[in-house]
Amino acid sequence: MAGGKIVIFSAPSGAGKTTIVHKMLEYKEFNLAFSVSATSRAPRPGEENGKDYYFLSTEEFKRRIENNEFIEWVEVYKNQFYGTLRSEVERLFSMGKNVVFDVDVLGGLNIKKAYSDRSLSVFVKPPSIEELRNRLMKRGTETPDSLKKRLERAEFEISLADRFDVIIVNDDLQKAIDETRKVLAKFLL
Ligand code: ADP
Ligand code: 5GP
Repeated sequence: MAGGKIVIFSAPSGAGKTTIVHKMLEYKEFNLAFSVSATSRAPRPGEENGKDYYFLSTEEFKRRIENNEFIEWVEVYKNQFYGTLRSEVERLFSMGKNVVFDVDVLGGLNIKKAYSDRSLSVFVKPPSIEELRNRLMKRGTETPDSLKKRLERAEFEISLADRFDVIIVNDDLQKAIDETRKVLAKFLL
């Protein structure tokens, strides 16, 4: 059975990673399935449990940490936990899929370390912090407080970009999609 490869996408929040990942999932020849993470943050309008994330209470998230159910987890923002469930990755591999991850930079580097022989790590870089702010404001999902937290963390995340296998600058979206598609084709096909 084919499959079993891993593609990791990391980026500061608002860089366009989700948009690019959704596009890659449409290219059926890549045989990609999205690893649904668990999080303790509240769902945004339109987000579905089990599709975008497994939404857990903070208590339930911590219980699962204790239970060793995560391959990796990070408190990305204060009191907001995100993590990759072992059960999720096993489920997708057993279906013969290549698995795509949308995780923060620390999670991305950890997953790369765990699966170094069969993974490709991609960093999606925004053209600037100012443009990141514009995109997050336009997306309309953040409060002034969460916007501030995301922009503060973005500087730290961008400083780790060089540790990824590939950097895609998402200035012109179509160009970024085409470039990502080429890189994935080389790795997966
Ligand atoms: P992330 O998953 O990295 O947080 P999203 O994919 O949600 O980012 O993108 C953040 C916002 O920016 C979305 O509203 C998206 O439509 C928009 N966006 C993505 N790429 C571009 C681009 N190249 N130029 C302008 N806006 C973009
Ligand atoms: P958001 O709240 O915008 O959906 O995600 C915030 C950040 O958490 C993003 O950088 C996203 O990639 C990251 N994230 C989502 N799932 C996981 C995960 O399972 N592990 C880690 N380490 N980060 C994750």
